[in-house]
Amino acid sequence: MGDFVSLKRRGANLIGLCPFHNERTPSFNVSPVKGIYKCFGCGKAGNPVNFVMEHEKFTYPEALRYLAKKYHIEIQEQAETAEQVLEKTAREGLSVLSEFAAKYFAEQLFNSDEGQSVGLSYFHERGFSDDTIKKFQLGYCHEEWDHFTRNALQQGYSMEMLEKTGLTINKDGKQYDRFRGRVMFPIHSQAGKVIGFGGRIMSSDKTKPKYVNSPESEIYTKSKVLYGIAFARNAIASSDMCFLVEGYTDVISLHQAGIQNVVSSSGTSLTTDQIRLIKRYTPNITILYDGDPAGIKASFRGIDMILEQGMNVKVVLFPDGEDPDSFARTRRSSEVDEFIKSNSKDFIHFKIDLLLKETGTDPLKRVAVLKEFIESISLIPDRLTRLAYVKESAHQMQMDERAVLAELNKVLRKKLTQKAGITEEEAEVVEPPPDFFVPEQQEAFDKLNTEWQEREIIRQLLLYGEEQISVEYPDQESGNPMKQDIRVAKFIISDIRNDEISFSNPLYQRIFDAGSTALDETQEMNYRKLTNHPDLEITQAVIDLIATKYTFSPNWEKRKIRLAMESEVLEQHVPHCLLSFKVKRVRQLMREIEENIKNAASVEEQMELMSHYRNVQKMANLIDNGKLGRTIV
Ligand SMILES: [Zn+2]
Repeated sequence: MGDFVSLKRRGANLIGLCPFHNERTPSFNVSPVKGIYKCFGCGKAGNPVNFVMEHEKFTYPEALRYLAKKYHIEIQEQAETAEQVLEKTAREGLSVLSEFAAKYFAEQLFNSDEGQSVGLSYFHERGFSDDTIKKFQLGYCHEEWDHFTRNALQQGYSMEMLEKTGLTINKDGKQYDRFRGRVMFPIHSQAGKVIGFGGRIMSSDKTKPKYVNSPESEIYTKSKVLYGIAFARNAIASSDMCFLVEGYTDVISLHQAGIQNVVSSSGTSLTTDQIRLIKRYTPNITILYDGDPAGIKASFRGIDMILEQGMNVKVVLFPDGEDPDSFARTRRSSEVDEFIKSNSKDFIHFKIDLLLKETGTDPLKRVAVLKEFIESISLIPDRLTRLAYVKESAHQMQMDERAVLAELNKVLRKKLTQKAGITEEEAEVVEPPPDFFVPEQQEAFDKLNTEWQEREIIRQLLLYGEEQISVEYPDQESGNPMKQDIRVAKFIISDIRNDEISFSNPLYQRIFDAGSTALDETQEMNYRKLTNHPDLEITQAVIDLIATKYTFSPNWEKRKIRLAMESEVLEQHVPHCLLSFKVKRVRQLMREIEENIKNAASVEEQMELMSHYRNVQKMANLIDNGKLGRTIV
């Protein structure tokens, strides 16, 4: 981490300014002993692999390879088959050819007469500076039929590769350049390698398309690429915002105007893969539109896809007759920046405004608008965000909030039933969607919540798993209480396993299961076993749980005192936590079964639930008598 953050030693830890959020006083802590980091400002935490993933936006395997290379550790990757080796070499070949082509086109743009007079003058007319042109590797492909192809063949590239990249078209025994007479926009991968091209025609021939793109190849998949991502990714991450525009020139003009966090879906309509690519850097997207209403309506589907990914969408509408390109070209950087800031609208206001403009005051049409709108809201994964949108839209459409909510619930229920493959009537019995809880019910549920107890048990397991405590058990023969020494991990895990009680929080259950496995396999269990777990969600949660402010306190003495205190009281604390968890959890279970009995669809189901209920009740009685989980270890 010292490679990326300047760190100072403080006590047992290292401390520095957090690379993930802006701050003036350091709250980014690294514990070499625990092998973890945690920022107490923004909450980011993890192990060394997570850090490299987060900081460099690597995938898990990419991060492992990076670290292995840095520390000269050999990784045993799966042996490649002959086919895979061939495929890889083929891909690398296409990649090398594409890089060569980009260099060639750029060379021709600046150094050939035709390139200068046709291509370069066009770019200059558009207001692109030479620096910008070089940065984006813009180029020119000659008007002549096979100017490029001939040259590439001379350099030793094969016709097969030329065809695969689509740079050359081979038709009826005749070979010619796909992009002849066009200015070239190389398309870069996330890592900055040239993988394809877009070409804009220079002649006024109306029979030919204005833009032509490379066909898909082993290195270029249209739906997974965003134009400009290699130049924008750092700016997107640091500004926590991604601007989305339509064309190549929009990206380039905004870049030149100093706005670098901008990409384009380059001709295709937005895909889920493209949205996920953005999501690696930020959850916030702002779409920049030119003022054409038909184009905007066509993009609603794209917005819905962004919402489905749980991301936030804003939109900016440029004045009539302007697009981001022309706007950025004719104004100072600060003006462009200011315009985007003051004209960003939440998509909700934007969409309702636009739809209402069309419907006027016709009440039937208004309802239709509302329905379409509710479909959009129903895609948002987060419940609180959905509710906030309900409030807003009801207000804006001057409708009753409850009516909007009821309509939303209808849509949600329909989705739920489609997913589960059951009818809507059955769904009423099985599980109401979360929005259906009236406040009183919600409150009752909160009271029964075992979140705190579950968290505490997992925390004890992680921090003190290997500590010895002395616990009372009833003697097998006499039944008299006897003291017995046992490690905390063994005590917690066997106790919960004996009673076959599960955690209500699925993540805690997974940590518990992973902990049990570690104990079974290695006879040991504490956080060290789980801070590098392959399940990244487990790693993250474990690190969050063990990285308390206290253990990271810069004051070494304080830390020791705190630890001493907590381990001294372990002997009372651990059994107490377990008991109160079980008491609450069993009550919760009984309550759930009661609810299900009331709503059971058939008598058979009811009977089955009743018998389940009686079993749980027995368990509750045992717990009340303090007898549970103190027999076998
Ligand atoms: Zn931070």
